[in-house]
Amino acid sequence: MKVMVVGSGGREYSIGLALKRDPNVTEIFFAPGNGATPQLGQNVTCKDYEALADFAKENGIDLTIVGPETALVAGIVDSFKAKGLVIFGASKAAARLEGSKIFMKNFLSRYYIPTAKFIETNDAQKANDFIETLELPIVVKADGLCAGKGVIIAQSKEEAKEAVADMLSGKSFGDAGLGVVVEEFLDGYELSLFVICDGVDYKILPAAQDHKRLKDNDIGPNTGGMGAYAPTPLIDDVLYKKVEERVIKPTLAGMQNENAPFEGVLFIGLMIVKNEPIVLEYNVRFGDPECEILMPLLKTPASELFYKAATGNLKELNIEFFDKYAIAVVMASENYPYGDSKPSEIIVDKNVHAGLENTHISYAGVSLEEGKLYATGGRVLLCVGVGDSIKEAREFAYLLCGQVHFAGKQFRSDIAYQALKHDK
Ligand code: AMP
Repeated sequence: MKVMVVGSGGREYSIGLALKRDPNVTEIFFAPGNGATPQLGQNVTCKDYEALADFAKENGIDLTIVGPETALVAGIVDSFKAKGLVIFGASKAAARLEGSKIFMKNFLSRYYIPTAKFIETNDAQKANDFIETLELPIVVKADGLCAGKGVIIAQSKEEAKEAVADMLSGKSFGDAGLGVVVEEFLDGYELSLFVICDGVDYKILPAAQDHKRLKDNDIGPNTGGMGAYAPTPLIDDVLYKKVEERVIKPTLAGMQNENAPFEGVLFIGLMIVKNEPIVLEYNVRFGDPECEILMPLLKTPASELFYKAATGNLKELNIEFFDKYAIAVVMASENYPYGDSKPSEIIVDKNVHAGLENTHISYAGVSLEEGKLYATGGRVLLCVGVGDSIKEAREFAYLLCGQVHFAGKQFRSDIAYQALKHDK
């Protein structure tokens, strides 16, 4: 099978790694890929998704897997399907679950899926009247895609009203803020679940926990994610069942009813309040860094899972995972998340791959210059450890962290600290 992965991050690199160990896969393409993906396959650059679909057709690509939400929201899946190609990801209509918070909140209400009390509007007066009815803090969200930055937790009514005014005027988020959602604050703990869907049937992946803040002990600014581990002990069978019955099944049935059956990765962001799951948001793709720990745990060949999901045949698949734990520690560049950093060569100690079977690197923000890999900014790479316990996986991951070098590298030293309390 020839498989193409769309995207350029650590998420796509980790999908590439899973495809590399898959006996059904003969060739891997990355569009556009990064400086390290040529280790796994061939990088392809095309001017737009139509041209990429033509490339896939001409080169006999059997399956395309889409990483980033921007491609999904822009309709890449529709372009490929119109040309008769098999592609795993959400259609443009289904990607509105992530692309528009207003669509998402109205969808949740229409299908009685639990969510925070809200108003959606483009009228500042209506938003302000609603703000007056809420207790503090108050949550204000821009409608469109803001790369994870469009949510303000306001500590006063004035701050909430200011956030609404800045969004509606286009000042804070441009067109993405021209509609807003104002909602009540939910006090609980957060949990994300990833569900592979084929429109009708679904398979739930091991529950993962992400670490959004830059620094140890969950302090510092929010980032794209500084590390993750799976499976997490923070969810039990009773909670799984509740999420399936109250969230996953009604979501899939609702999307069928909207004529936008959900195919692809449904990432459900939940707040657990008094043991009840409440939906904060949906994303329509794998999280990054969560993908980097879920792929190494997948025992079922990745091509089989994604192909069956993309062709409506998930029901017949018995999905299997290794009985292991995985942890990823993100190594970011010096000025992340505030700004660019000077490119710096990445040196990996020679004994890494020879000595440590249970570790690997997933490369993200890297470029290739004259045969050498350079850290080019943002989240540069992830050190992944896989072990029989969270503790063991963590030891492997941090051992690897000590063997990877580039100027200004920064990483958290406490990934999975919540889970260690529960570990065997
Ligand atoms: P979202 O993009 O909607 O998931 O929001 C980003 C983050 O903001 C979430 O991961 C939560 O930490 C926080 N958040 C969003 N909505 C709420 C809410 N209603 N109550 C409490 N925290 C929230």
